Amino acid sequence: MTGPWICDMCGGEIDNAGVVRGEDPGKGYVIWQEDAGVARNFKIIHQGRCDNDQFELSVALDRFLGDDGLAYLLSFLSLGPVILRGAPEMRNNPRVADLDEFVDLIRRLHTPGYEQSRRHYRDDTVLDDLEGANEAFPYSSDGIRAVLDSVEDQDLP
Ligand SMILES: [Zn+2]
Repeated sequence: MTGPWICDMCGGEIDNAGVVRGEDPGKGYVIWQEDAGVARNFKIIHQGRCDNDQFELSVALDRFLGDDGLAYLLSFLSLGPVILRGAPEMRNNPRVADLDEFVDLIRRLHTPGYEQSRRHYRDDTVLDDLEGANEAFPYSSDGIRAVLDSVEDQDLP
């Protein structure tokens, strides 16, 4: 299970307790902007108190969680055979402007611990610890644990 999330607007925590209990799923929202059908500037925010009218699209956070949430996210990257059958020119034509930003969003929603480790990937000590790691390790469960351990060690007196 992923979460809690850190709101991109206020920096406060978005609790996932309601989601875990299968109730009150509307505490978080994913918002983004779209230009000619291409999505960009994805943010995870508190519903209501952190709404921003510059972002015309918003969907409840829980719609992006679990198996169906991953299916929804992947539809931004590939329309799949059903739609592509009628629109083959759309092959390899993701509906997101920035793949790195979008993968960051997927990791935030689907990789346990990533939301807590992601703000440390630019720390010098963390980068030193990750030197020589392959492209997948920093975002794997072992990599995330290593990052969080490294940050925790620095906080010790
Ligand atoms: Zn907020």
